[in-house]
Amino acid sequence: MAEYDFDLIVIGAGPGGYVAAIRAAQLGLKTACVDSRETLGGTCLNVGCIPSKALLHASELYEEAHSGALAKWGVKTSGLELDLPAMHGARLEAIKGLTQGIAFLFKKNKVEWLKGHARFTAKDAIEVAGKSYKAKNFVIATGSVVTPLPGVEIDHERIVDSTSALELAKVPGSMVVIGGGVIGLELGSVWRRLGAKVIVVEYLDQILPGMDGEVRKECAKIFKKQGFDIRTSTKVVKAEKKGKAVTVTVEPAQGGAAETIEADVVLVSIGRRPNTDGLALEKAGIQPNKGGQIEVDHAFKTKVAGIYAIGDVTPGPMLAHKAEDEGIAVAEILAGQVGIVNHEVIPSVVYTMPEIAGVGLTEEEATEQGEIRVGKFPMLGNSRAKTNREGEGFVKIIADARSDRVLGVWMVASVAGTMIAEAALAMEFGATSEDIAYTCHAHPTHSEAVKEAAMAVTGKPIHI
Ligand SMILES: Cc1cc2nc3c(=O)[nH]c(=O)nc-3n(C[C@H](O)[C@H](O)[C@H](O)COP(=O)(O)OP(=O)(O)OC[C@H]3O[C@@H](n4cnc5c(N)ncnc54)[C@H](O)[C@@H]3O)c2cc1C
Repeated sequence: MAEYDFDLIVIGAGPGGYVAAIRAAQLGLKTACVDSRETLGGTCLNVGCIPSKALLHASELYEEAHSGALAKWGVKTSGLELDLPAMHGARLEAIKGLTQGIAFLFKKNKVEWLKGHARFTAKDAIEVAGKSYKAKNFVIATGSVVTPLPGVEIDHERIVDSTSALELAKVPGSMVVIGGGVIGLELGSVWRRLGAKVIVVEYLDQILPGMDGEVRKECAKIFKKQGFDIRTSTKVVKAEKKGKAVTVTVEPAQGGAAETIEADVVLVSIGRRPNTDGLALEKAGIQPNKGGQIEVDHAFKTKVAGIYAIGDVTPGPMLAHKAEDEGIAVAEILAGQVGIVNHEVIPSVVYTMPEIAGVGLTEEEATEQGEIRVGKFPMLGNSRAKTNREGEGFVKIIADARSDRVLGVWMVASVAGTMIAEAALAMEFGATSEDIAYTCHAHPTHSEAVKEAAMAVTGKPIHI
């Protein structure tokens, strides 16, 4: 050990890195975690999952009161106004509480936080803030950053990325969201609820790439009803600031006549790219792939002995819970235990209203693999959802026609993000649709729709 400062140095303190560091320390490894931010928690806690959910929650409350939805429940309001600084305050308070929580957990578990930017100087050494550190093993968990769009220069005021879109000082009159994926629809929802007219421009012929086809169609309908102007098969060519407005030039994805859209604010949300900036990976002997990702095997090993990688910087969905599970698994592997992540069963959620969630194969993917049976149940048939006036959406279960094993579950429902956990657990245990159908679900809950969709796989739901 004398040769090394640490058993393990984790680079990056996002949900992948901080979780890996804590688990490794819990398992007895002398561990440090490097991060260049002022606070721990990475993208997720500082500028991602948590602040976006704080604004989604706050804007939902505002819209409920403002649109008269609360009044329909007998809750009358008067003198209602938006206090945007207070809303931002609530967001900052959430970030502060949670990032300080990670600092506390680091202290509690004796993880040393090395503040600064890490760069490799050899395959077993890094430099942080002018100091050198050697470790037996490294886990690279440097996450991802916003993908830029050529022709659209982000100024963080009128042409914003996901980070600056969380911090707008006033509600724009109009907003063009470039990219109809998860982040664009979530942040677009926030500003639409607060009063902006939101136009979503999507290159593909449908929003929400990667999700089940039926879900994508249903959600486009729901979002349009909410007031989103969704323009699919449309390409953004450039965005120029002119006076107080931004002029966005678009043209049909397949080519054709260009037109312009004027907006107060433009949000660029076309995706994220793996972040290995300034890490000097070449000094460690690691070459990222063409997409900039660090390739790993099933045990998160890179090609270089003693260097592992997890989370957004590696292939796979860019999700906090995927990064966290990989963090736990890699730490357990390094401590001599068995660490496994089942990449076939990683739920994905869009936190709009209603929420959208899925796990496993889409119907399109499952059909390609063989014969399937599909059970579907509308949320309108669910007593709790109907009572709460949350009848939009459905649950859909896709099962193998021969074995009945569940291959995928998709849902659009007010609390789909919570409901999907049951589906993931069932799939992890190799459940059949019959297993779910014969599991007693509490009444009245939205989750009963999962049971009914499972019953529908063999054609016998009760409430429809
Ligand atoms: C607006 C938004 C909303 C999101 N919402 C969700 C959601 O609801 N659910 C979900 O699952 N995912 C969500 N995500 C995605 C989620 O944030 C990421 O998947 C997750 O944070 C990835 O974790 P990670 O540990 O791989 O990396 P990150 O969280 O990106 O953390 C990496 C950290 O490493 C640091 N770092 C990088 N290089 C170095 C270096 N050389 N030296 C020192 N430090 C370095 C970075 O500063 C960063 O703090 C959202 C993302 C955004 C942008």
